[in-house]
Amino acid sequence: MVKGNKLPPEKNIQVAVRCRPLNSNEMKGNSSVAVECTKKEVEVMQEIADKQTSKTFTFDKVFGPESSQIDVYKGVVAPTLDAVLMGYNCTVFAYGQTGTGKTYTMEGERDPNKHLSWEEDPSSGIIPRTLHQLFEKLTSQNFEFSVRVSFVELYNEELFDLLSPSEIDHKKLRIFEDSARKGSVIIQGVEEIIVHTKDEVYGIMERGAARRQTASTLMNASSSRSHTIFSVTIHLKENTMEGDEFLKTGKLNLVDLAGSENVGRSGAVDKRAREAGNINQSLLTLGRVITALVERTPHIPYRESKLTRLLQDSLGGRTKTSIIATISPASCNLDETLSTLDYAHRAK
Ligand code: ADP
Ligand code: MG
Repeated sequence: MVKGNKLPPEKNIQVAVRCRPLNSNEMKGNSSVAVECTKKEVEVMQEIADKQTSKTFTFDKVFGPESSQIDVYKGVVAPTLDAVLMGYNCTVFAYGQTGTGKTYTMEGERDPNKHLSWEEDPSSGIIPRTLHQLFEKLTSQNFEFSVRVSFVELYNEELFDLLSPSEIDHKKLRIFEDSARKGSVIIQGVEEIIVHTKDEVYGIMERGAARRQTASTLMNASSSRSHTIFSVTIHLKENTMEGDEFLKTGKLNLVDLAGSENVGRSGAVDKRAREAGNINQSLLTLGRVITALVERTPHIPYRESKLTRLLQDSLGGRTKTSIIATISPASCNLDETLSTLDYAHRAK
């Protein structure tokens, strides 16, 4: 690892909120806008017993309904990518109620009628933008480098490979502790694809996203209950003026979490969800791990879920974590919005 490559003295956990625009269903249902955003604040308006009350939350960054995919990329991910290139392991999470824009934020959308490339399409999300920027940065300097990506889905504490070359089966994966590197796990048999140019990335992403869709149909499962983790690992070889060689490895995990609707305001499992058996162990444990990191408690319960085991080497310690909490502006979603804001606020 290169000496003297220190991260700027910022917090290791950054929390941002993104509020999407009101959608047509919310408009039809006569829902009103109950959320106001400024640069760092979210104000939620609520009517309780005929009285108008409001609650304001402060975050590191807030992206209102007019914010673009580029704004979110620049504000949250660009600084993280710089840390990854210095050899840090980093994670960006999208957390929020189903339908609030987690997948839109992470992957983005493409208008098939417009025939725009990923880099031209304003709807491209964080994953394609990150890879694009990564290759721009790597090829503009005289580094030797390699970039590998993997894309896995976690459903009901089981791990599946979204990039497995086999067409039919949804390949189940096993994880093991890495005996060589304490705190890391190895995913046995996971497809790790070496990416040579940015253009290869888009096909890989599309393949994974399509696989996620068909797999959830096959398992009769809702994709709102699964997490996906897109990981990019970068190896760099740098030659110094003195003729020394430095090797650096950095990793970036881009995580699209399961819908947060089953986690109650207190961060505990909602009673109804518990009765329906909808406990999402990974989502709950992630909350506990982040709280433990923020409060600097000595025991961090990484081992209590697959998600936190997988991400253990990229959460806490010498890493950077960003959470993008996604919310709806509509009055009809107010309870879930408050729940998301509470969860996100606890991570600050
Ligand atoms: P989630 O993954 O959280 O369930 P999605 O990303 O699928 O939610 O978003 C739900 C719908 O809302 C999609 O049709 C998406 O296009 C739209 N949407 C989400 N966020 C935005 C946004 N910031 N601007 C415009 N449309 C959005
Ligand atoms: Mg989604």
